[in-house]
Amino acid sequence: MARKTIPGGALVLFSGGQDSTTCLAWALERYDRVETIGFDYGQRHRIELDCRLTVLASMREKFPEWSALLGEDVVVGVEAIGALSNTALTRDVEMRMGADGLPNTFVPGRNLIFLAFAAALAYRRGLKHIVTGVCETDYSGYPDCRDDTIKAMQVALNLGLERRFVLETPLMWIDKAQTFALARELGGTAFLDLVREETHSCYAGDRTKDHDWGKGCGVCPACQLRADGWSKFVAEGL
Ligand code: ZN
Repeated sequence: MARKTIPGGALVLFSGGQDSTTCLAWALERYDRVETIGFDYGQRHRIELDCRLTVLASMREKFPEWSALLGEDVVVGVEAIGALSNTALTRDVEMRMGADGLPNTFVPGRNLIFLAFAAALAYRRGLKHIVTGVCETDYSGYPDCRDDTIKAMQVALNLGLERRFVLETPLMWIDKAQTFALARELGGTAFLDLVREETHSCYAGDRTKDHDWGKGCGVCPACQLRADGWSKFVAEGL
């Protein structure tokens, strides 16, 4: 993969999970400078916000070439999302499928709100590319993760902010197994180990149980997706 050849810089939506951590490495292999943005939307489990700092520190420590390109990290408070939605990610309710076919982990419009905030920051920081780990392949039915949604959002942001932002979605058409493979391609087994051991996906906020695919409760939809992806990654020798 070509290195540091694309000017204009990138802002990565970074949550500290497997997907956004892989996207961050992807951006660091590609752009001349990279910054990160995270969101505090009143998550039930603060562990996600702690993990993103641990992952960032670990990437800086273990990958000096990436560290040199890695700039400012900003966490934006968007607690209003929690007040507006009644979902299993922000309230203490059981995760289940809703009558509309969407899991109740869906926070309505969350990615649209995140992208609008990211664009406002990218505008101020003079960054051209906005990188997000949304994915249509493994997506849990979230309509704001679809390719068409992101493309429409790019048009809306560019009109509304009078800029030429490029919204990049490196994981859009790959599954979790291929995301593990991409992590290894970007940073070798050292980075694959970092993704496996330090990133957080579990909806239950559990980091007490160790599995070969990382830490988590092992039963929530996010853990199941990650465990299945890892099994496929290992079984298929990707
Ligand atoms: Zn879990």
